Amino acid sequence: MSVLIFIDQTEGHVKKSSLEAMSYGAKVAEQLGTVAEGVLLGNTSEDLSGLGKYGVKKIHHVNNAELVAFDAQLYTKVIAQVATETGAALVVFSNNMDGKAIAPRLSARLKAGLVSGAVALPETNNGFTVKKNVFSGKAFANISVSTPVKIISLNANAYKIVEGEGVAEVSSFNAVIDSPKIKVTSTTKATGEVPLTEAEIVVSAGRGLKGPENWGMVEDLAKVLHAATACSRPVADSHWRPHNEHVGQTGFAIAPNLYIAIGISGAIQHLAGVNRSKVIVVINKDPEAPFFKAADYGIVGDAFEVVPKMTEAIKKLKAYHKLRTFRS
Ligand SMILES: Cc1cc2nc3c(=O)[nH]c(=O)nc-3n(C[C@H](O)[C@H](O)[C@H](O)COP(=O)(O)OP(=O)(O)OC[C@H]3O[C@@H](n4cnc5c(N)ncnc54)[C@H](O)[C@@H]3O)c2cc1C
Repeated sequence: MSVLIFIDQTEGHVKKSSLEAMSYGAKVAEQLGTVAEGVLLGNTSEDLSGLGKYGVKKIHHVNNAELVAFDAQLYTKVIAQVATETGAALVVFSNNMDGKAIAPRLSARLKAGLVSGAVALPETNNGFTVKKNVFSGKAFANISVSTPVKIISLNANAYKIVEGEGVAEVSSFNAVIDSPKIKVTSTTKATGEVPLTEAEIVVSAGRGLKGPENWGMVEDLAKVLHAATACSRPVADSHWRPHNEHVGQTGFAIAPNLYIAIGISGAIQHLAGVNRSKVIVVINKDPEAPFFKAADYGIVGDAFEVVPKMTEAIKKLKAYHKLRTFRS
């Protein structure tokens, strides 16, 4: 009765959220007195045995041409086979786009209780209870799961990556793979240097920037911080920025270590997608803007003055540190 973790990859590279899911799954396996195993679908350039350092003892690799493009129905069927054959008592996903598409389908297929968006390790001393966010992050719920097979999808940044010394055994899994019902004819990659949902730092801007022509300063700040860019919903609705940057209740929910909000009022629907950020910095010219109540640090000022100064200051700081490292 193992813990099985879905190892999500993009273009052959394992996602950071999967490193968190493996570290989390390994800890739950330890709590339950069992082992953690991983399942990875499709071709990869990663050294799979090296993923053992995140606590997985074995990786079931299902490599098939039909699994190159993500297909939730097909992936669910394959993961269900691996879970059944390995006797998994718990399957762990990241609560990202792929996890959100597969976990509920797998739950129906395996008749397994699902807790989506877990934020902590489960309580396993008396039953199996998992803590998750509810009401757009305004409260927590502790959900008891009593089905023999259980599924958890873990929120991004809810559990730290734990690196050890282990090496995983890698085994090829021969799954029965139906021909896909959906054919992917082309893929359009989101622009931006750092993917939003994986980013440690996010620089986000709202209607306070007046128009798309003013986003250069947001991109400059993001570049010096190696951050992803995001925006409020009206900005995406007005086509100032693409919809894949829209964060909030109806956009992406993110949890970076640092979220910088520029010219965003802080409406409840916006906060719903960003209030799990570790540190929030707000730049707004209105001292009464609601976002300041959720901020760890606030700058009351005109974004057009503050942001370029901030970028220059960070550039100088980075240059100074580079010089110091060079001299020592
Ligand atoms: C069902 C529903 C779902 C929604 N989902 C989302 C969602 O997912 N995400 C989302 O973002 N919104 C969502 N909204 C919209 C949300 O209610 C707000 O309308 C929206 O977040 C406001 O965007 P904003 O802060 O960019 O613009 P505004 O509310 O217009 O705020 C602009 C801010 O910029 C400041 N500002 C102006 N000029 C400057 C300057 N020069 N320097 C610094 N600051 C300046 C102003 O003081 C103001 O605080 C939703 C609404 C509904 C009803």
